[in-house]
Amino acid sequence: MKRVYNFSAGPAVLPEPVLKKVQEELLNYGESGMSVMELSHRSAPFQNIIEEAQNLLRELLSIPDDYQVVFMQGGASMQFSMIPLNLLGKGQEADYIETGSWSKKAIKEAVKVGKVHTLSPAEPFEIPVYSPEDFSPQSSYVHITSNNTIEGTRFHEYPDTGGIPLVADMSSHILSEKIDVSSFGLIYAGAQKNLGPSGVTVAIIHDRLIGGATDTCPTMLNYDTYVKHDSLFNTPPTFSIYVLKLVLEWVKENGGVEGMQAHNEEKAALLYNCIDESSLFHNPVPEKNRSLMNIPFSTGNEDLNAQFLKEAKAEGFEFLKGHRSVGGMRASLYNAMPLEGVEALVDFMKKFEAKQGGE
Ligand SMILES: *Cc1c(COP(=O)(O)O)cnc(C)c1O
Repeated sequence: MKRVYNFSAGPAVLPEPVLKKVQEELLNYGESGMSVMELSHRSAPFQNIIEEAQNLLRELLSIPDDYQVVFMQGGASMQFSMIPLNLLGKGQEADYIETGSWSKKAIKEAVKVGKVHTLSPAEPFEIPVYSPEDFSPQSSYVHITSNNTIEGTRFHEYPDTGGIPLVADMSSHILSEKIDVSSFGLIYAGAQKNLGPSGVTVAIIHDRLIGGATDTCPTMLNYDTYVKHDSLFNTPPTFSIYVLKLVLEWVKENGGVEGMQAHNEEKAALLYNCIDESSLFHNPVPEKNRSLMNIPFSTGNEDLNAQFLKEAKAEGFEFLKGHRSVGGMRASLYNAMPLEGVEALVDFMKKFEAKQGGE
């Protein structure tokens, strides 16, 4: 069967060369005589895989030496708890910018640990520019969701926190465009959108944010545990880390983050232009806050949306249904989505519109 164009928000499309390599190596990894899934996490071949994964991520994002890279389980959702447990000491406070469903979930966990100030933009799809006076000076950190997977919005300009560490949930756009790691205190991302398969979560943490967890913090929720043991305190998700490493190699071979960014800008422009020129489809996000990765659109008519989704599926466009909280459609254009996939989608949208007599 032919592979479809998978527009899922996550788990998401993986680069085909990566999947082929996994297939090739599946029964016998390297010279080991066994599958990578069967390798001890203490063995030399696996140690090489996890080290290489870390080195590649450091290289691709130019991560400065005073940041640690750790691999964990539990998804971005577990980070919602780990962050306050590690950064929000007794009596301390944090600022959270609420820009969508995932920020709300992060806030829900943080308020269990400490005092949280929530900053909510006035308009649902608008993300204002923030400056130091917007934050409480005694805050331990400012948390943002830098790309809002569900709403299709993003920070156009990262908040100037005036020196308060900025913590960013980059789950749905890490490695999609250049970032300056040194302007963040902590970056985290579940792998299953832009980094690899589900099961592994990456965090990039500045040294000064490590070691501050309270005594009651569970060992497995303490960043210090992962840093001290090179993410090998207990059994890590070995297969997911292996595939993540292959994805990072693929990113490097395809122009690195800069190459990804150019490719992503081209794909997103193609779809946004199609939506903006259409008299049938629309996107609710002001231009400057539009996500490069997750693009919601709708006809404004539920029956017509359902018809579109049905016909799209029959043509091999999968998982275009929007999140239930937003409705309509959503196309996620992660790094691994080829340009041809977006060209084919745009073509299909134009034909669908012409059929409705919308031209
Ligand atoms: C998908 C997603 C999450 C949740 O990730 P899990 O790994 O399923 O916990 C959190 N934040 C953002 C921005 C996401 O896109």
